[in-house]
Amino acid sequence: MTDLTRLSAAVLAEKLRAREITSVDLTQAFLDRIVSVDGAIHAFLHVDADAALATARDVDARREAGEDLHPLAGVPIAVKDVVVTKGQPSTAGSKILEGWIPPYDATLVEKIRAAGMPILGKTNMDEFAMGSSTEHSAYGNTHNPWDLERIPGGSGGGSAAALASFEAPLAIGTDTGGSIRQPGAVTGTVGVKPTYGSVSRYGLIALASSLDQAGPVTRTVLDSALLHELIGGHDPRDSTSIDEPLPDLVEAARQGAAGDLSGVRVGVVTELQGEGYQEGVQARFDESLDILRAAGAEVVEVSCPHFEYALAAYYLILPAEASSNLAKFDGMRFGLRVEPEEGPVTAERVMAATRGAGFGDEVKRRIILGTYALSAGYYDAYYGSAQKVRTLIQQDFDAAFGQVDVLVSPTAPTTAFRLGEKLDDPLAMYLNDVATIPANLAGIPGISVPNGLTAPPEGGAELPTGFQILAPAKADDRLYRVGAALEAALEKSWGGPLLDRAPELG
Ligand code: GLN
Repeated sequence: MTDLTRLSAAVLAEKLRAREITSVDLTQAFLDRIVSVDGAIHAFLHVDADAALATARDVDARREAGEDLHPLAGVPIAVKDVVVTKGQPSTAGSKILEGWIPPYDATLVEKIRAAGMPILGKTNMDEFAMGSSTEHSAYGNTHNPWDLERIPGGSGGGSAAALASFEAPLAIGTDTGGSIRQPGAVTGTVGVKPTYGSVSRYGLIALASSLDQAGPVTRTVLDSALLHELIGGHDPRDSTSIDEPLPDLVEAARQGAAGDLSGVRVGVVTELQGEGYQEGVQARFDESLDILRAAGAEVVEVSCPHFEYALAAYYLILPAEASSNLAKFDGMRFGLRVEPEEGPVTAERVMAATRGAGFGDEVKRRIILGTYALSAGYYDAYYGSAQKVRTLIQQDFDAAFGQVDVLVSPTAPTTAFRLGEKLDDPLAMYLNDVATIPANLAGIPGISVPNGLTAPPEGGAELPTGFQILAPAKADDRLYRVGAALEAALEKSWGGPLLDRAPELG
């Protein structure tokens, strides 16, 4: 019998529809896989087998009764723990939310439930989505299935690792500066950051509200399109939600897979390559450009001169917004409450004791930085300047998209680094996002598609690399067209998916 856990969500959905398999059997297969490998991977913070199987039984009965079901009905999914799920723990990787059970579902979770998709559990992440390695989780790190001694990327390392280790066929991530795309790149999976405002933020535990966006984490480009179409769309409960239908993403992915990119203009961002990019990462990137050319695309170089300031602007804007968003964790409303060891139990002292005990170092670092950047006398110099840089970056994108249809770069400058390697060096950690951050600052969509393997600089087994495609706001369909064309050509040359070459687990 074929191992169901290795099939794409699109294929599984087809088998469910044709009644070759049941959702109960499928869900059980993933739960069994989680039991056998998650001890080594630690992708999940919480697994809810009973709830997942109850959904599966219900959807099987509805199918049996001839009900008209969503195309993904019965396909299980994992959800990053920063997204609230009614009645299930939602910690955002933080001790401060330990024990908090949300009384409501995020809009995207409502949609997942309405589609009849069993939720396997909640995935590990850097605390409050701050990080690029998942090592800042308060609940222990996640391991990269390609090499257990290495990071799975971050902040959504749990969702990406769950996909790469076949513990789930689909997952949800959130991307504020790259937390869907960079984990995708270093685990050999697909990740999409949709256009800002196209997937509801209602029920996301906010990191930086002007940058946050939830999106699909999958093993194929088509699977991302299917999931993106489900979770996207207007939501009156999110004031920044776009009140327009999404473009036809699944159609774009199917069209792209046919392999013809004639007429598509691809811009290589000059500033997102060269120095700082690992040699093998650059080599795989250049080969992918050849593939796009062979498919008929016109490839030109485009300069975005202000991108060199993107990281600096992001690390002022993000901490500023985060310091404000995280102020609500005061020991009274959610989760953890710590009383001062001695002295009076005042609200202020409970708040200080709770935040001191409940937040990790990276979160404290950013709260201090953000509070400072927003303080009277410094506001214009730091936050104000960063916002001006943000506008310049948006203008760089506008000018670039006047010349080309999509922009491309390596997703991450290096392959997965070793656990612990960058933990004590915040700047080295921040640099993993140089290529992904500009899209968040401009609100535009991006995808990372696995595009090969290369040995890490210190030698050893080969590791995945990712190819990033960026499109103008609301033109997410272009990601799928170009991404699917690249994926189809690469898989043809490899003789199958990249993940087939990952070491066996368990
Ligand atoms: N690594 C980036 C950061 O630490 C991105 C975070 C994210 O996208 N959630 O801020």
